[in-house]
Amino acid sequence: SDVGSQKERVVTEEEWLQKWEMGNIGFHKTQGHPLLQKYMDVLLNGRRGLRIFFPLCGKAVEMKWLADMGHSVVGVEVSEQAVKEFFSEHSLPYCEEPVPEISGAKMFQSTSGNISLYCCSIYDLSSSIVGKFDGVWDRGALVAVNPCDRQRYASLMINLVEKNSRYLLVTVSYDPNKHKGPPFYVPESEIKSLFG
Ligand code: SAH
Repeated sequence: SDVGSQKERVVTEEEWLQKWEMGNIGFHKTQGHPLLQKYMDVLLNGRRGLRIFFPLCGKAVEMKWLADMGHSVVGVEVSEQAVKEFFSEHSLPYCEEPVPEISGAKMFQSTSGNISLYCCSIYDLSSSIVGKFDGVWDRGALVAVNPCDRQRYASLMINLVEKNSRYLLVTVSYDPNKHKGPPFYVPESEIKSLFG
């Protein structure tokens, strides 16, 4: 398929912040994603007390699901509004602290300690800051990354996962000449070359 029309497109962090300010967040699923319900067992694989990563997390309600199941959730999101809305919409008390390794970044953590959301760009993270993860829920993340940044994103994600991790990825399939994205169309062949 021809994805040439999307290859050059760039959505800036400022534009994402504006989407949040304008309430232009059609991607948010109030009821959570049915595909995570369906494939929860594949993600967990019978394991308990996992560390689960939500890249480009928005205010995904699935973070609450995993935390309620006893897992430890880490997310990253550029919009502080999104992060604060997550905690307030679930009536979760939280505290806020700077991240010494990343200038300007803040980490918002539920008082219970099992949900930590980094407010910064995902490209500021590394395993020395956030550790490694046993599971990843990638919905609205790879497909939201600018096409020119996909390689960098995938390399980072590979670095952030443990050997025996499980990674669930949701993509969208459509004619990229008819919609400029995001979500961008990422062909399966490209996913294979990015993640091996
Ligand atoms: N995964 C979420 C949100 C998808 S929309 C869900 O399923 O609802 C993509 C989100 O990524 C937006 O909230 C946007 O603000 C955020 N974002 C965009 N670029 C980012 C970056 N470089 N680092 C961290 N977050 C980013």
